[in-house]
Amino acid sequence: MELEQILARLLEAATQVLQADAAMVRLLDDRGRELTTAVTVGLPDHDSAVEPVAVDQSALDREVLSGRTVILDEIQEDVRGATLPQDYCSALCVPLNREGEPLGTLYIYATGAQCFSEPHSELLAPLVDLAAEAVAGNRAYAKLKEQEASRGQFIRIATHELRSPIAVAQSLLRNVVKGYAGELNEPQRDIFARINRRLDFMQTLVNDLLDLAAGKSPELGEDEQAVAVNASVGRAVLLVQPRAEEKDIELSLDPCCEELVVQASEEGLDRIFVNLVDNAVKYTPAGGSVRVSLGRKDEEIQVAVSDNGIGIPKEALSHLYEEFYRARNAKKVDAVGTGLGLAIVKDLVDRYNGRIEVESELGQGTTFTVAFPVLREEAPVSGRAVSGRAVSDSSVKTMIAQP
Ligand code: ADP
Repeated sequence: MELEQILARLLEAATQVLQADAAMVRLLDDRGRELTTAVTVGLPDHDSAVEPVAVDQSALDREVLSGRTVILDEIQEDVRGATLPQDYCSALCVPLNREGEPLGTLYIYATGAQCFSEPHSELLAPLVDLAAEAVAGNRAYAKLKEQEASRGQFIRIATHELRSPIAVAQSLLRNVVKGYAGELNEPQRDIFARINRRLDFMQTLVNDLLDLAAGKSPELGEDEQAVAVNASVGRAVLLVQPRAEEKDIELSLDPCCEELVVQASEEGLDRIFVNLVDNAVKYTPAGGSVRVSLGRKDEEIQVAVSDNGIGIPKEALSHLYEEFYRARNAKKVDAVGTGLGLAIVKDLVDRYNGRIEVESELGQGTTFTVAFPVLREEAPVSGRAVSGRAVSDSSVKTMIAQP
């Protein structure tokens, strides 16, 4: 529920409990200078009491914000600088604060004179505490979102700045290795090959960081639409196929004749399956097999990627989706992984309201299963425009050809 809805319900309950006629919650701005109205009950919008209040102009609000409950018996007599509604005589003015920090004010009004007393304020206390919790929770959430966005922005800028020097260094190195700067002897060749490997790793790391930041950025999601899972899985398999062939790994796909559609971004969905299939091939020794299957189970679309590779140690299973985590046995097989792929996958799966599960036996193999809710739409699937390039050879070749 939105904060306004929660506060409105609490105010309605408060007016009922106290048999009052109107109520209002005002929230303090970040600088503690102004109170703005968040929610009112029983007050017309044009009432001047609904307007923002400068705290330094209102002794009454200052007193309430300092933590004191104030009871007004005759509003006309004692307003202490506050703008109070015209048609009410009594007011119960309660501070909204949490752990000593003022968050705003909660005022209850009644048309009759002398309607409120100390027991009323005690009766109201649990509702006021709930309102303060709701406001504090909402502020903490907004702050978290802000921090997440600036973290994402920092990673994006940092990785962008890292990308170009790496690309330049790689290109210069290629020229040296090709002999354009003079013939190289064997030890020099060996050193340059090592530099090249390090640069390749750095490039992968930077790309993964960029993907991770992109996945967390709030603006992502605008390009979500109905996307065909079948095509996305097909593209992932074809993209990883050359790597599987290099390692003599049998990579197979059990297709599904039903068109399976989810709400996602096409790029994000591709990234999920490419990461999972790529990992399966990476962590399966030469001569092994990787099998990808997809289908519909009840209300879910399920894609499973199974391999008979190195498996995952039990103690590593709960850490797999943490950024930079790599299991011990994986480091031995592939020294240059970043440990970011599954963190990216998990972020994307969550974003598309899916879930991911893993089953693994050390030394026997691993199965990652990704499940998404079936996209419900009025139009039949076949009659609808669904995004997802067909898994034709030409489209896949185009994709593989991309850098
Ligand atoms: P990376 O592959 O770069 O190390 P990931 O985030 O993709 O990073 O994977 C995290 C870890 O999960 C890997 O280091 C590895 O320990 C484990 N892992 C993922 N997929 C598999 C798999 N198919 N078989 C065995 N281990 C896996």
